[in-house]
Amino acid sequence: MMRILIAAAVALLIFLVGSVAVVMYMTLSLRDQASQTATQVMSRADRLLTHAREAMEPLAPHAGRPCTTELQRQLEHQRLRSSYIQGIHLYQGNRVYCSSTLETFPLADPFIPGAREQLYLLPEIPPQPETPVLLYALGRREAGVMATLSTAPLVRHMTWHEGIAGLQTGTRALLPDNRVMRLPSAWGGVTWWYSGLFDYSVFTREFNRSEIAQLWQTGKWWFVLTGLLALTGGWLCQRSLLAPPVFPVRLREAIRKGEIVPYYQPVVDARTGAVYGAEVLARWASGGRVVAGPDVFIPLAEANGLMAPLTRALLARVLSDIEPLAFRLPAGFHLGVNLSVAGDDARELEWDLIKLQARFGRRIQIVVEVTESAPVAPASWIAGMLQRLRLEGLRVALDDFGTGYANLAHLVRLPLDFLKMDRVFTRTLQDEGSETALVDSIIDIAGKLGLTVIAEGVETPYQAGYLLAKGVNLQQGHRWLHSLSSREFARYLIRTEFSHQWNMTEIISD
Ligand code: C2E
Ligand code: CA
Ligand code: CA
Repeated sequence: MMRILIAAAVALLIFLVGSVAVVMYMTLSLRDQASQTATQVMSRADRLLTHAREAMEPLAPHAGRPCTTELQRQLEHQRLRSSYIQGIHLYQGNRVYCSSTLETFPLADPFIPGAREQLYLLPEIPPQPETPVLLYALGRREAGVMATLSTAPLVRHMTWHEGIAGLQTGTRALLPDNRVMRLPSAWGGVTWWYSGLFDYSVFTREFNRSEIAQLWQTGKWWFVLTGLLALTGGWLCQRSLLAPPVFPVRLREAIRKGEIVPYYQPVVDARTGAVYGAEVLARWASGGRVVAGPDVFIPLAEANGLMAPLTRALLARVLSDIEPLAFRLPAGFHLGVNLSVAGDDARELEWDLIKLQARFGRRIQIVVEVTESAPVAPASWIAGMLQRLRLEGLRVALDDFGTGYANLAHLVRLPLDFLKMDRVFTRTLQDEGSETALVDSIIDIAGKLGLTVIAEGVETPYQAGYLLAKGVNLQQGHRWLHSLSSREFARYLIRTEFSHQWNMTEIISD
């Protein structure tokens, strides 16, 4: 539960951080677009007004003078300098009295007669109703010259997104739909861009509905991506960062990928030094090297019901390793396979073991090494299963005798052939003066019960010699050989085939 909560929190965090980043990026890119739009509108307006001023300036001295045909012709002549200048007019007081359009009309508030330079927007002007114009006037005393300019070229550059950009002068604004409206007294969410040359500004409105819609339009896939990223992050977190349930997942994967491989530790006949058999020891190998030993993953497999698939995969590898080597092995070669009977998993393996023995035939003798890792008396099914295995030609060894949970009770209740004396007992044999009572009595009991002893953990010549003198000629341990990979084991067999000698230094060991 805790694990899921942590994973969910991680996913949420990734999503929040991702979303903030996406929104920030989108906002910045919208700001950038807004600034580009404003710059375009402004440069257009500045150009238009500059042209208008150049057209008007030569006419300024005529303001207030009588409107002659010649003067009208001059007005028209100057108007033609730009196609966006609709008309050039002379005014006196509140009235246009002479015009290139030949119209005369009154000028209403907020027009200020004679103001040196003024700019404002009119919703319409005669003779074209409902066509807004930008009015630009240069005045002197009561009279002056003015140009009426088409707003069309400005509006064309406001197409970034509807209702978002506009041009303001005085109390009025020109909108992208070519309408002139009165500015509201308080207007939030607006960015202003001021012209340095003329008395107007351009504005962009942020975060209105259409902008948010656009944000969503362009950003939605980023949000989806952020969501996916968050889910992946949460999943990875739950899978690999958090300790306990993660490892079984990896072990299951390792089994599936064939990373649990057999190593082989030869069992040697100490009388001759010849190979008598080998014990299969599981290793977790990845990328060509051993990454974990059985002490790490066997308990994990037992606790997670993975012993059956693990052993099955291991036995499949044993078959493919040993079959090609079978002709090099002495007849009746003894192949020890560990079987954990702590849980119920061993039941599932009965048939696998029988099949393997059948494949090997008489040449190779499988010896099932029964180990226990829990303090439970051997269940009756274990004895039954071992009995059936023996009937099918397999042999049984009691592993780790005398330690942990494998004890005397097992000796009488289980059908056995071998007794593996644990290395803790072998270790008690240090030198001539060592106490040998424990080792001696184990050997004694085995003899009385008709079991063959295999000594484990034989490390020194003294131990080997002492055990041999007591009739324990089957020995396993570093005095003889470490556990070998299948390649090393094959190499070892090829050498010993000719010499029947072992040479530890020549074989690469673990
Ligand atoms: P085990 O069955 O008693 O295996 C013998 C262990 O003693 C092996 O350790 C071996 O490498 C080590 N050994 C051999 N010679 C010497 C020596 O001279 N000195 C010392 N100090 N140690 C020696 P390993 O391979 O780490 O295996 C540990 C245990 O893991 C095994 O104990 C066995 O109980 C279990 N195990 C290994 N493979 C399997 C498997 O495939 N299935 C099951 N159920 N258990 C396995
Ligand atoms: Ca064993
Ligand atoms: Ca053992």
